[in-house]
Amino acid sequence: MELYNSLIRDTQALLESGAPKAWPYRPGSEWKDIGSSELVLQKDAAFELGCSGRGSANYVLFTSSPELVKEDQVLLYGKDLGEISGPVDFARIVLLRVGVLDGDDEAVYRILKDIEFAKYHVYPEGYMVRMSPENYREQVRVSKQAIRRGINFRQIGASYIQAYKKDPNVLNATVIFVTAPNFDFGAMKELAKKANAVTNTLTHILEGLSTDCTVCALKDICDEVEGMKELHFGVGDKGADKGHKH
Ligand code: SF4
Repeated sequence: MELYNSLIRDTQALLESGAPKAWPYRPGSEWKDIGSSELVLQKDAAFELGCSGRGSANYVLFTSSPELVKEDQVLLYGKDLGEISGPVDFARIVLLRVGVLDGDDEAVYRILKDIEFAKYHVYPEGYMVRMSPENYREQVRVSKQAIRRGINFRQIGASYIQAYKKDPNVLNATVIFVTAPNFDFGAMKELAKKANAVTNTLTHILEGLSTDCTVCALKDICDEVEGMKELHFGVGDKGADKGHKH
């Protein structure tokens, strides 16, 4: 699973000017989860993260490389929840090290989709998440009561890690929060878009798309992301590996 490695490196490059707070994941340190989405009304809100007019980005990247994702940890670039007093830029980026995904490509794709979308919802108390997948944004409204009770990113990150690790294919999870204003949220959004394009290209490949790169609508992403073409020409190689044009 090397398809997203360049995007992980680009993400690390975007953040390299920062000095994050880092917390290793400790099971049991999660913030209370209420099991379903909660409405935090404006009047009960302390502030919003990544609201309209502010930078916001949200994406998940996969790798099988233990060099790129070494451990279960939470990283925070910027202020923690208890230190924020008004609307701020916000990114949540998740890096997952996955195992046993180098076999059947279709199975790999299904596993990635399962991990990314389907099952693992996190509903921290007093932390209302609104996602806009089409804009690669995530907005969070944090309640005054949660702030009074000491909610922080270490615990919210632990809640996400716990949820991702319910899937046995997830070996390590790093959850990165960014609230500092001096990062390029536009560039993060572009990486989110590319990650989505990689996952979508996988779908098309698995749907048996023609292997003529010269007329393929996905050529741009395949040119850019290492391993896409190899993947396509490796899938169901009867015919796919023969006679393809670059
Ligand atoms: S490898 Fe070529 S044919 Fe296959 S999806 Fe990429 S650009 Fe299209």
